[in-house]
Amino acid sequence: MSILQIIVCDKNYSIEDKVSNILDALFYIKKNKNHSLAFRSGCKSGVCGSCAIRINGIEKLACKTPIKENDTIAPLKNSKVVKDLIINLDIQETFLKKSKAFLEEKSTQVITQIDEKDIDIESNCILCNSCYSSCPVYEYDKKFQGPFALNRAFRYINDKKENNKKSKIDAIQDNGIWQCTLCGNCNMVCPSYINIKENIIKLRNLSAQFGYNDPNIQNFGGNFSTDFGFNPNNF
Ligand code: SF4
Ligand code: SF4
Repeated sequence: MSILQIIVCDKNYSIEDKVSNILDALFYIKKNKNHSLAFRSGCKSGVCGSCAIRINGIEKLACKTPIKENDTIAPLKNSKVVKDLIINLDIQETFLKKSKAFLEEKSTQVITQIDEKDIDIESNCILCNSCYSSCPVYEYDKKFQGPFALNRAFRYINDKKENNKKSKIDAIQDNGIWQCTLCGNCNMVCPSYINIKENIIKLRNLSAQFGYNDPNIQNFGGNFSTDFGFNPNNF
């Protein structure tokens, strides 16, 4: 039997058992070494997002990550740690409300399967919070709506069931899409492989069509809507 050494929340542990992944190792430690070790888990198959942590500095799902010698395990960054590997998840609700990432005005339009496909990938978010942990903007600005909420806003703006897209476009302007540096960190850690960065770029383009400009660049006095003949009422 091989013995592995790993570090969990700055403490060394020997794993004297055959375990296949990091989540199994955490259960082993809790049962045999440290009964008070606190961590989240749910489906144990990469679907629920509960077990997201940082492994050797990178956000990953514990249940989907094979264990290896000297792995270092820590809680997700940029959120208050409740205990050990458990973080406070309040930011999800706070920013979902701020970005109005929910159905506001239900349309009477008939929705087809093809329409549903348009928002399929974005709907696969498993609320793991890894993207907030990896985001350098959120690290320094806790008012930034961040990748999770902006991706959700994108999902509802593209949902044909939603009648009030303008309200969501308005909601993501302040501390939202223009603050993102497009670094792509969120894409790299997202276990659902959502292209959050590209969705933020699309939200910027859409916002320009609604008359919004990037506040970070000089305003030369033009207006996208009138200059290019776009009428957001037709959207
Ligand atoms: S691309 Fe934007 S939202 Fe994603 S991690 Fe970078 S700054 Fe944050
Ligand atoms: S967008 Fe991806 S990384 Fe962010 S919470 Fe959803 S599944 Fe996790």
